[in-house]
Amino acid sequence: MHFIEVILPLSLAKTFTYRISEAEFHFIKKGMRVAVPFGKSKIYTALVLDVHENAPTLYEAKEIHQILDEVPIATEIQIKHWLWVANYYMCGIGDVYRGAFPSGLLLESETIISHKPDVVVNDSELSDDEFLIYEALHHQSSLKIQEITSILNKKNILPILQKLIAKDIIFLDEEIKETYKPKLVRYVKLHSKYESDNGLAGLLEVLKSANKQKEIVLNYFQLNASEKKPITVKKLTEVSNVTAAVVKALVEKEIFEEYYLQHDRVTFNGEVSDKQLQLSEAQESAFSGIKNSFLEKEVCLLHGVTSSGKTEIYIKLIEEYLQTGKQVLYLLPEIALTTQLVSRLRFHFGDKVAVFHSKYSNNERVEVWRQTLENSPKAQIVIGTRSALFLPFNDLGLLIVDEEHEQTFKQTDPAPRYHARDAAIVLANFHKAKVLLGSATPSIETYFNAQNDKYGLVTLSERYKNVRLPEVLLVDLKDKHFRKKMTGHFSDLLIEEIAESMSLGEQVILFQNRRGYSPIIECLTCGHVPHCQQCDVSLTYHKHKNQLRCHYCGYSIAKPTNCHNCSSIDLTTKGFGTEQIEQELASLFPKAKTARMDQDTTRGKFGFEKIIDTFKNREIDILVGTQMLAKGLDFDNVGLVGIMNADNMLHHPDFRAFERSFQMMTQVAGRAGRSEKQGKVVIQTYNPNHNTIQQVTHHNYIGMYKEQLYDRQIYRYPPYFRIIKLTLKHKDFDKLKEGAMWLYQVLSQNLGMPVLGPEEPAISRIRNEYIRTILIKIPNNLHLGNTKKTIQKMLNSFEAVAQYRAIKVVVNVDFY
Ligand code: ADP
Ligand code: ZN
Ligand code: ZN
Repeated sequence: MHFIEVILPLSLAKTFTYRISEAEFHFIKKGMRVAVPFGKSKIYTALVLDVHENAPTLYEAKEIHQILDEVPIATEIQIKHWLWVANYYMCGIGDVYRGAFPSGLLLESETIISHKPDVVVNDSELSDDEFLIYEALHHQSSLKIQEITSILNKKNILPILQKLIAKDIIFLDEEIKETYKPKLVRYVKLHSKYESDNGLAGLLEVLKSANKQKEIVLNYFQLNASEKKPITVKKLTEVSNVTAAVVKALVEKEIFEEYYLQHDRVTFNGEVSDKQLQLSEAQESAFSGIKNSFLEKEVCLLHGVTSSGKTEIYIKLIEEYLQTGKQVLYLLPEIALTTQLVSRLRFHFGDKVAVFHSKYSNNERVEVWRQTLENSPKAQIVIGTRSALFLPFNDLGLLIVDEEHEQTFKQTDPAPRYHARDAAIVLANFHKAKVLLGSATPSIETYFNAQNDKYGLVTLSERYKNVRLPEVLLVDLKDKHFRKKMTGHFSDLLIEEIAESMSLGEQVILFQNRRGYSPIIECLTCGHVPHCQQCDVSLTYHKHKNQLRCHYCGYSIAKPTNCHNCSSIDLTTKGFGTEQIEQELASLFPKAKTARMDQDTTRGKFGFEKIIDTFKNREIDILVGTQMLAKGLDFDNVGLVGIMNADNMLHHPDFRAFERSFQMMTQVAGRAGRSEKQGKVVIQTYNPNHNTIQQVTHHNYIGMYKEQLYDRQIYRYPPYFRIIKLTLKHKDFDKLKEGAMWLYQVLSQNLGMPVLGPEEPAISRIRNEYIRTILIKIPNNLHLGNTKKTIQKMLNSFEAVAQYRAIKVVVNVDFY
């Protein structure tokens, strides 16, 4: 008898055994997909892990429905990596499989499909079965695969559907189909031959007899003087009261030149768009530093200040790896950043660049999957967000993790709750590849590894073209309130600086921390925020109990009526959002064009890209935004960055609060003054002398690192301890409380390391389920694998207790 061992795309740790025929036994290979029955009536796409002759002992093996591939679609290294992820992050291999595959390759009986309304299909091109499905979908706009199974009265329908998908006749319902096309705005400038003073005289001579055209040129000069920003064709035609065709004629006469800011930025800056990239001296030495480090070490950290041209160095490095014929994976923290980067990379590598992320349609993702698997020239460089890590690479040579400090690299939900940077390092190891981590503000963990010689370290401390890092001005909010120098949330200094930037034709970014942060109590007089003595995080205000609580250890006090620091009774709990800032701006600067970039305004599919484009095209003067602004965007006309309130970042109840505040402020500040001149940053705070604020002001990363490292050791956090967070959920409050206590006691009695909790989080009930958390701190010197095994054993025994079985436990290893 012959069997296969498969993974199902379900949250299960086990593999399953199915029976196959002798012929199938000789055909099936590891990494192929098969359609298998599961449960009463479901069908899933399973992945073959092994082919063998051992019958399962606990159940009778069912037969498979059908083989779905002719050759393996997943590689052995890939599967090995998935097993590592499942093991390290304590989840089911099925979770990893499900997360890794594009759903177009994972059809199952519950999948819903629809037909494309606008395709014309030639009946003769369809098989009988295909035609039946096509017909059925005309009567019913969408169907479950299960329903189609009964329409055709067949069990093996997945291959038929796969063909219809490939023919573009049907699609999976969850798909997102649009792609984003940046809006191109046309601008005009004077043709370069008239740029000198002499040229101008010549120009007026040329136009002597063309009065209308002369008028347009004069209008152009006027606009140029008054607006101090690029002039759109639209604006010029409006002012001159002519049609676009008239301006076009002037372009043809070579009096004006047309350009698009979006694409022609380089030309616009007066630089030549020569394809050959020239590294600066500092970049050149960083580049060879990285290569030297790769001679000895697998991982290298490039610590380069904002706008030092890290991307250029990546590009040089990619060039070298491509020559060896190896594949390159370039990971980014955020989908929204890919548009910018892809155009930069395509500029150098043309169609060797493939993109992979969750907003891409299924067909596109399946295509990249196949190209990667086949080592196609079209996927030599894959750019993607964290899930691109799970593609079937054949021969990876280099992995780049850009903005490695970003917390979006860690997946929170659903499982696998992996950290893409860490999982990338393991993957590189399997491929014998190198990893370059890049950041202006490396995570404490990564810098620690670099300091301890685990990783190489290359520092690039000057900006490209030696532009100086922005000048940081601190505003003491306490003092400004006292002197009545505040207008709403704006200090007099910030208002002055905004006005100054506007008059220079420069753009402004105002940053306000994300809303929906856990509420804290802040003293309006001195800015003091109560902290937990044991955990060094700020206490969270729980309204219904009128308490302040620590989310890590559960320490609580009644809500104070006076400030512990200065005894003032002026305590506040509410923050303020981007919306309010935008409103205040409208009355302070009624003429400025403002826009807001936060979770509300970027919700639409390409909301983020649209705002970024409009800002780059200089149609927005002041951009008010949250976190997303801190993510490595490259603008070239930002003169000023204002940080509205630094304190609510500092007081976030999280042991990484100071590290993150430093990163966020430094990154946002880094958007200022990138192309030629030094920019300015205004930070408003109640704590101008706070160490973190001082470190940001003096661009002192090392100071921040040393201070935080010291705290991490004292308070037992990473990199000295690894943290596993358990989240328990149940509808019944008492049962959850009892169960959480049971598990906590078992863990703390048996583990011999700090176990904290069980704690009620700020949001203690979601969708009618109550929540409790337990935090386990594993010292660095203990064997992690063994500790996890012990924890897993206890979780298993917890599950074995009948009355707790219904309590869900979510395990988050290396909780961020
Ligand atoms: P970082 O990622 O370090 O913040 P970028 O790679 O975005 O910096 O570079 C900042 C700006 O400087 C970009 O507009 C980039 O095109 C430009 N730049 C950096 N290095 C070079 C170079 N060697 N040649 C031309 N332009 C460069
Ligand atoms: Zn106070
Ligand atoms: Zn505490």
